[in-house]
Amino acid sequence: MDSRDRTIAFPPGDWPELEPGWVWLCGAGPGDAGLMTLHGLNALRQADVVVHDALVNPEILSWIPPGAERIDAGKRAGRASPRQAEISQRLIALAQAGRRVLRLKGGDPFVFGRGGEEAQALVRAGVPVRILPGVSAGIGGLACAGIPVTHGAVNQSLAFVSGHDPQGAAPALDWAALARGAQVIVIYMGLRHIGPIARALIKGGRAGNDPVAVVQDASLDSQKVLETTLERAADDIARAGIGAPALICVGAVVPLRRILSAPLPGAGGRAGASDGRDPSPA
Ligand code: SAH
Repeated sequence: MDSRDRTIAFPPGDWPELEPGWVWLCGAGPGDAGLMTLHGLNALRQADVVVHDALVNPEILSWIPPGAERIDAGKRAGRASPRQAEISQRLIALAQAGRRVLRLKGGDPFVFGRGGEEAQALVRAGVPVRILPGVSAGIGGLACAGIPVTHGAVNQSLAFVSGHDPQGAAPALDWAALARGAQVIVIYMGLRHIGPIARALIKGGRAGNDPVAVVQDASLDSQKVLETTLERAADDIARAGIGAPALICVGAVVPLRRILSAPLPGAGGRAGASDGRDPSPA
């Protein structure tokens, strides 16, 4: 038996105070509750209202103190999702009513998360805002699948791409420039348009057998990893039944997961890179 006392209080320090009338815009990390930051936890302990997205882990939401209000602004909540402008208006109204508001988003609030738009609306309305960054799925989530987004001599460049535009269509990006210029391409929200995206990258000069990993539920116990190639990605994703939320990573860092996804000593399944549930059809 290990006799070390493992009970630690919240780390001592000069943690900022969430004051009435403020909105803190905070990233909750990619999924695994342990990947939320200490600033996030400090905020949760003080908020009297938490407005969260669908991708925030319920375990994190269970830490909201009793007595604090919880508002689900999620886009996958089963009913029609509130529009972005309505969410911003709601945040403004809560702050103006003198509440301590925590706006909690999956990953990092500024990475394809509309955090910038919300912060802009709040600042325009004269509401004071503090930004608390989070671990974005495109970095930390891939790490949990054993994929380093940069690695030594393998790549010195990396692009983060959204797989659809605000209207839901495939984004009108310069795919040829991305194919040539970014050694590794990480696509968020890419499942729907992966067919045309992969074709555009190949047409732009990327090899058809360029390695691709698709990671669903990155960092969670339900994590699934599919390894495929650019030319086979769309078919293999459909065959493996991969669903959202998923990241698609294109480039030579993908094969490194064979080395790096060995079980981590003592990780106990949490935030380790091992999943043992590789549905790769290869
Ligand atoms: N702000 C978030 C991204 C929001 S966009 C961040 O920084 O991570 C939502 C997309 O993020 C999803 O469609 C998916 O592509 C990706 N994503 C978020 N969490 C994920 C997870 N646990 N596993 C795989 N992809 C995830």
